[in-house]
Amino acid sequence: MNKKVLVIGSGHNGLVASIILARNGFQVEVLEKLAFPGGMAGTTYLGGVEVPIGAYVVGLIPDVIYRETGVSVGKYYPDPIAVYQIDRNSYIRWWRSPSKRIDEFKKLDLDRKVKVFIDDMARYYNIMLSRYLLTTSPPSIDDLYNDPEAKVLVEKTVKEYLEELFPEYLWPMFIFPIYYSEPLFTLVYYNPPMAWYYPVWGRYLGVGALIRALYSRAIDHGVRFRFSTKVEKILVDKNNLEVKGVELESGKVIEGDIILSTASPVNTLIDLLDHNVIDYKYVERLNNLSRYMLDVAKITIVFNEKPKLIDPLENYRESIFQLSIGEMIVRDRLVVSVGTPNIEGLAEYITNMGSENVKAIDILTSRDLESIFSVKGGYLNHLPMTKEYMFSCRPVCGWGYRTPVKGLYIGGAGAWPGGQITGIPGRNSAYTIISDYTK
Ligand SMILES: Cc1cc2nc3c(=O)[nH]c(=O)nc-3n(C[C@H](O)[C@H](O)[C@H](O)COP(=O)(O)OP(=O)(O)OC[C@H]3O[C@@H](n4cnc5c(N)ncnc54)[C@H](O)[C@@H]3O)c2cc1C
Repeated sequence: MNKKVLVIGSGHNGLVASIILARNGFQVEVLEKLAFPGGMAGTTYLGGVEVPIGAYVVGLIPDVIYRETGVSVGKYYPDPIAVYQIDRNSYIRWWRSPSKRIDEFKKLDLDRKVKVFIDDMARYYNIMLSRYLLTTSPPSIDDLYNDPEAKVLVEKTVKEYLEELFPEYLWPMFIFPIYYSEPLFTLVYYNPPMAWYYPVWGRYLGVGALIRALYSRAIDHGVRFRFSTKVEKILVDKNNLEVKGVELESGKVIEGDIILSTASPVNTLIDLLDHNVIDYKYVERLNNLSRYMLDVAKITIVFNEKPKLIDPLENYRESIFQLSIGEMIVRDRLVVSVGTPNIEGLAEYITNMGSENVKAIDILTSRDLESIFSVKGGYLNHLPMTKEYMFSCRPVCGWGYRTPVKGLYIGGAGAWPGGQITGIPGRNSAYTIISDYTK
């Protein structure tokens, strides 16, 4: 066999896919426009401190993916995992231990409701994982409707489910408000029983640890990486609609038998392919995505002296803070905040925010995401995580990880089951290639 696969993108999905393909006898070369691996889960340096570029916590990688890649990372759980701001002076803590969580909700007289929530999320997540997530054939919405145990995940909306259990002011604790009208599936996706943690690999803690572990594993398996290498075009033999290789920004051509793109599907199908290769009717709705629908901003600040937090946050420095300005994490001299943060807003939680204490600051917007990672519209999950782009319609209805071009596959966050650090699209797309080429 020994077919050559060109993987576009070294985000975590590209890394997972490369390892699985290399372990199954494929010759793998990864082409990455940036100078380092990890994509939106990568890290960079600011004020001499290693900082996450995008993602900072992990929670959605199923253990089976660690086993299949042979990657072993520790999991560091802050406790409480998260601290959620209810109003100006009151907070609720989401402890690591479910029984402590239930106790915490006693003060709101919601202990029985939170138990139902924890049990439901675990049960539904396990149904999804065992039947629908780890598959080379993404399920249609009807597949879930026809499954008596999974039906509720598409029949009920997030809002309908949450309003049975909690007052509305608590809903953002579990999911962003933009998802309230989406199927219950989305709530389960973001609230897995294994919860959110920081990966640990050797002396590294944080998302960078996961990327280092995956990258090093890929190298062990002989995967070749070319960084600062932007793919400009996917080359297709138009007579038999089969891939031939890619053309780089530099004009150089690299030949390959198979191409797995983990770049945004909008980018892959519209920018990298010649326009007459795929019938436009398939990709039209990708081209029509509203720009910057998620106007996310991320502020990263490196302090000279450790930031001091207001009470009671100071007691839980390691937790994920869900504040009215957005999410915030604090690590030693580093603060990262995502949502709609601004400097004045952060100063309400950090008492020594004075300019003399700020060593370096970086602001990342959706427009930056678009230019850095080539994600059209700045979507941090490549495509919206909404019903229209979910299930077997992510990215194009009925395609799964394949495309009409023989040898061209899609396996990043814009493929089923979607974004965040899960490794699942990378894993599933790799197995799709393995099943197609080892028959
Ligand atoms: C600010 C922010 C915070 C986030 N927080 C979290 C979090 O805490 N937890 C979580 O789970 N998720 C989080 N996410 C989402 C998560 O980071 C992404 O959904 C996930 O990393 C996507 O991984 P991927 O491998 O599919 O794609 P990417 O990470 O986007 O990787 C694709 C790669 O392809 C490369 N590429 C694109 N086009 C080309 C080309 N033409 N040639 C060569 N290379 C190309 C890109 O440079 C990139 O490296 C966050 C995202 C952002 C932006």
